[in-house]
Amino acid sequence: YNSQLQRSEKMEIISQLAASVAHEVRNPLQVTRGMLQILEKRHDIPPKSENFYKLAIDELDRASTIITDFLTFAKPQMEQVNELDLADEFKHVEGLIVPLANLQGGRLEMSVPRSLRIMGNSSKLKQALINIIKNSIEAMEGSGVVKIWAYEEREQVVIHIADSGAGMDERILERLGEPYFTNKTKGTGLGLMVTFRIIEVMQGTIKFKSQKGVGTEAMIRFPAARYNETNAEVTI
Ligand code: ADP
Ligand code: MG
Repeated sequence: YNSQLQRSEKMEIISQLAASVAHEVRNPLQVTRGMLQILEKRHDIPPKSENFYKLAIDELDRASTIITDFLTFAKPQMEQVNELDLADEFKHVEGLIVPLANLQGGRLEMSVPRSLRIMGNSSKLKQALINIIKNSIEAMEGSGVVKIWAYEEREQVVIHIADSGAGMDERILERLGEPYFTNKTKGTGLGLMVTFRIIEVMQGTIKFKSQKGVGTEAMIRFPAARYNETNAEVTI
């Protein structure tokens, strides 16, 4: 028990540190990217170096994507476990996801009633959800719809996230959450690893159903807050 406690204290320190680093590093990455874009447009670049700018910008984007998979909502402060209303959490997530969906030509249909309450850290939960929804949007090439709905069932809060995207076969399904497992040219293979870890720490479960060419559905279950008082002391 003791060593477990120490481990969770260490995790706490690490994740706070990561949050501050993400916070501080994002800006210089963006500034550097802007400068490179300006330089790229100048006409006096030796022909052999033209490619270097594109490479440099791509690598900066890669760094930003990795930070995004881990720390979209991270705040450099103590992480608290609170009673969360799922509708509030999804409101924030929606604000971030709708522009992304519009950009890719996808649609979002959300039906999350108020007063579905679970225990957790708001930033972490939103990170877990956004990594799933982002995958859905990325799987949809062009038009398509991501449907999100939630309800309470037998002392659990259940969330469904279903897309009409490319789908996955069995071989891919069983590797979800494996670090660095990606099928995208610009993927990190870290999104679902982060998501699985967060859901596990919140004492939830996640299952994927998918059919190639039809779409994918994730189903997440959390203990409803009023049945989960023990959780209140756990840090994630
Ligand atoms: P990344 O998105 O960086 O590739 P993830 O861990 O988020 O890493 O996802 C791993 C892989 O799982 C993706 O590359 C993709 O092949 C597959 N995947 C995840 N979600 C979906 C989905 N909704 N539809 C189709 N494939 C998916
Ligand atoms: Mg992803």
